[in-house]
Amino acid sequence: MHNPGHRFQAQDRFADGAQYIAGRLTKGTSGRTHAVVDPATGDEVYTYELAGTADVDAAVAAAREAFPGWSGATPGERSDALHRFAAVLAERAEEFAQAESLQCGKPLKLTREFDVPGTIDNAAFFAGAARHLQGQSAGEYSGDHTSYVRREAIGVVGSIAPWNYPLQMAAWKILPAIAAGNTIVLKPAELTPLTSLLFAEAATQAGIPDGVVNIVTGLGKEAGEHLVGHPDVAMTSFTGSTAVGKRVAEIATSTVKRLHLELGGKAPFVVFDDADLDAAVHGAVAGSLINTGQDCTAATRAYVQRPLHDEFVRRTAALMESVRLGDPFAPGTDLGPLISHAQRDRVAGFVDRARGYARVVTGGVVPEGDLKRGAYYAPTLVADAAQDSEIVQAEIFGPVLVVLPFDTDDEGIALANDTPYGLAASAWSRDVYRANRATREIKAGCVWVNDHIPIISEMPHGGYKASGFGKDMSTYSFEEYTQVKHVMFDNTAVAEKDWHRTIFGDRP
Ligand code: NAD
Repeated sequence: MHNPGHRFQAQDRFADGAQYIAGRLTKGTSGRTHAVVDPATGDEVYTYELAGTADVDAAVAAAREAFPGWSGATPGERSDALHRFAAVLAERAEEFAQAESLQCGKPLKLTREFDVPGTIDNAAFFAGAARHLQGQSAGEYSGDHTSYVRREAIGVVGSIAPWNYPLQMAAWKILPAIAAGNTIVLKPAELTPLTSLLFAEAATQAGIPDGVVNIVTGLGKEAGEHLVGHPDVAMTSFTGSTAVGKRVAEIATSTVKRLHLELGGKAPFVVFDDADLDAAVHGAVAGSLINTGQDCTAATRAYVQRPLHDEFVRRTAALMESVRLGDPFAPGTDLGPLISHAQRDRVAGFVDRARGYARVVTGGVVPEGDLKRGAYYAPTLVADAAQDSEIVQAEIFGPVLVVLPFDTDDEGIALANDTPYGLAASAWSRDVYRANRATREIKAGCVWVNDHIPIISEMPHGGYKASGFGKDMSTYSFEEYTQVKHVMFDNTAVAEKDWHRTIFGDRP
């Protein structure tokens, strides 16, 4: 079970268990175990005891106990702790990169240059933002009173995260919540607990009090649903598929909780006929293959105006064919496996069904040779599919890009908007008016112009339509993780207020 080739020895490192409650690792008490599998080899690298409902209860109790102290700390004190947190993450960056690459199969260059630095930057951002929590300034709006608004933490937040970016999702959920003074219980995906546990340990190392950050690693149906429905949890923040998000919403709504949903995506990539074709081709390959396509904002549907369409297909296929699949830990690997063999088979199923109604230009195969043990799938380009076909409409979550032509600008924008999702999109043009129109009319939480994928801590991330509601990152996330209270002081000091006459007595 141990993999001596890897620097991160999960079984030794987390021998004490995969639950982090009140500042220490413990074993789950569900009575069931789960194996973390290295998707590049199919080897089991860590077996742990899953959390049951009692572990969720213990984590929520720890978070509840920590809440008065943490929410009562000054913004400056929380900011100092988050600055120390960012520093600990930076010191331990390589360990995080190794663990994330091991459990997800991400090439080390991706975890070292994207997942881990992005997480450190998020911590640094929220360290600063913690001191900028503001309400409306005071004023005498009624004449006889002074009003002001307090922005307050909500309480214990219950968060649920997916497996595609386990470290960044833990950071996106935990950092704004605790910067605003909440305490949190996070349930990572059962496939990928390692970096959430490291993240919680780093919080303790930075001096963040026990119970502020807790991790319960269990199954969605058991630990997840119990966390969402828990009476002592004040808010649910969920990132994952739209199907599970609907179930989470039902439970959260029936217990009247604040709800933040970051769900699936099917991002369009609209190339107008004046675009820089070279830039669009490079952007399409990088934007569709990032994280082996398991990215909710990945470019999935390229709409290319007819004069550029055939050349775009030819050059995109050629560039996809140059991408090097391989061992995530080997230098020179561009693309790793999918998260699991089951996910690989699911992706292959979408492409195989599409062969009946579309053309697979490149890819569409499981690589032979050494890679066969892992969950690898070749970068795949599909053309000639109808707009209403499954491959164009459904979230595939793999290294698959579908290309469709369009004629008029109106048609390109209409096609871009024609799925239930609305998380992200890009428009490619050298005409500022055309590009600006696309940014206004495409219904998505983020529209890039002449690029696709970059994210920054200062800017909000979140969906429109079936991609959910609420924002991660940026100070906009404080709208989710705080509640505002109106405080109103009487300034008259009189016992008989003028408005009392509407209840008793007559106006003189
Ligand atoms: P998923 O919905 O299957 O699982 C997400 C999490 O929910 C996991 O922790 C899982 O254990 C838990 N879960 C499952 N059933 C549950 C239930 N009944 N109650 C409570 N929790 C439950 O998603 P996934 O396969 O892990 O991740 C891929 C999906 O996540 C894709 O749809 C992708 O688009 C989405 N995603 C969205 C964003 C975004 O920001 N919008 C970011 C990353 C991933």
